[in-house]
Amino acid sequence: MKGYAMLRIGESGWIEKDTPACGPLDAIVKPLAVAICTSDVHTLWEGAIGDRHNMILGHEASGEVVEVGSEVKDFKPGDRVLIPAITPDWNSLEAQAGYSMHSGGMLAGWKFSNFKDGVFSEYFHVNDADGNLAHMPESIDPADACILSDMVPTGFHAVELADVQFGDTVLVIGIGPVGLMSVAGAALRGASRIIAVGTRPVCVEAAKSYGATDFISYKNGPIDEQVMELTGDKGVDRVCVAGGTVETFEPAIKVLKPGGKIGNVNYLGSGDYINIPRVEWGVGMGHKDIRGGLMPGGRLRMEKLASLVESGRLDLHPEVTHLFHGWEHLEEALFLMRDKPVDLIKPVVVID
Ligand SMILES: [Zn+2]
Repeated sequence: MKGYAMLRIGESGWIEKDTPACGPLDAIVKPLAVAICTSDVHTLWEGAIGDRHNMILGHEASGEVVEVGSEVKDFKPGDRVLIPAITPDWNSLEAQAGYSMHSGGMLAGWKFSNFKDGVFSEYFHVNDADGNLAHMPESIDPADACILSDMVPTGFHAVELADVQFGDTVLVIGIGPVGLMSVAGAALRGASRIIAVGTRPVCVEAAKSYGATDFISYKNGPIDEQVMELTGDKGVDRVCVAGGTVETFEPAIKVLKPGGKIGNVNYLGSGDYINIPRVEWGVGMGHKDIRGGLMPGGRLRMEKLASLVESGRLDLHPEVTHLFHGWEHLEEALFLMRDKPVDLIKPVVVID
C-alpha cells in the first residue's frame, strides 16, 4: 500500500509499505477523509516526538472498515466509522485508573504517527476496535467527521479540565481549530462570557459563531491587562489554553480568580519550565489549579461528540476551510498547514 510518510525530520514523501496485519481485537480501516493537524507539522518539521524513519503521518480520519479480527463484536467490513486520534488499550491499568490516554505509559494512548503508522495511507490499523471505533452517523459528512478525531475532543477536554460551570466567564487562549472547539465547548457548558485571544479574522469570525463574546489580541499589549480591563478588574473563572508557550501560564494565573482552574491542551514545544507568578498564585495558597491533559480518546467519547453534531448542537463546517479531493493533494494540504495562510483553519482531504 501507499502511505505519506515522515522519512526523517524535515523530509517527507510517499512510500510503499505492507498493509498492516489485523490482530484478533483489531480492525483495518481505509480512510474516507483525512485532516491535517498542527501536530503533523510539529512531528515532521520540528522533531516534536524525536526522529522517525519512514513513519506514515496523520492521526485524524474518518473511514470504512475493511477487515476485523476474530474477537471484534460490533464492527464488520463495510461499516463507516469515526476514529479518535487517541486509541487507548482499554484493558490497561492506566485506563482502569481513569487515564486511558496514558495507557502503556505517559501519553502512550497516542499511537497513530507516533508508535505506529498513521492514517495518511490506503489502509491503517486500529487497536482495540470495539473500544476505539464508533459508527459514523449517516448525517455526518466524512470530511466533517475528521474534525471529531482530534479537534473536538481536544478542544472540549480543555473545557473539562478547566471544569467550566454555568455562568462562568471563560478565557480561551488561542483560537486555532482546537481553541475554537474550546469556545464551542465552553458555550455548551453554559459559560456566560467567553473571551477569546486571537487575531486572524477567519478564526475570529468562527469563534463568534461558536459563542465567543469578547476578543482580545496579544498585539494590543499584555493579555492579562486587557482581560482585567474587560472584566472591570474581576478576572475570569476559567481559562482554556489552546495556544501559546510556556510563558502563557503567567497571564493565565494573573487573570484567574481564586478557586479558578486552567485547562491546558496546548503542546509546549520548548522551554524547560513554566512560569507561575508567585504573588498572583496567592503566594502558594490561591486555589488556582493548573491542569494539563491529553484527550482521553475511545468509542464512548466519539459517540457522544457525534451525537452533538447529529442533533445540530455543534456545527463542524466552520472548522473546514480548505477541502481537497484525492491523495494527490495531501502534500499540498500538509504544506498549507505548515505555512498557515490567513484564511486557513483546517485542511481536509477527501479520498474519493
Ligand atoms: Zn491532531
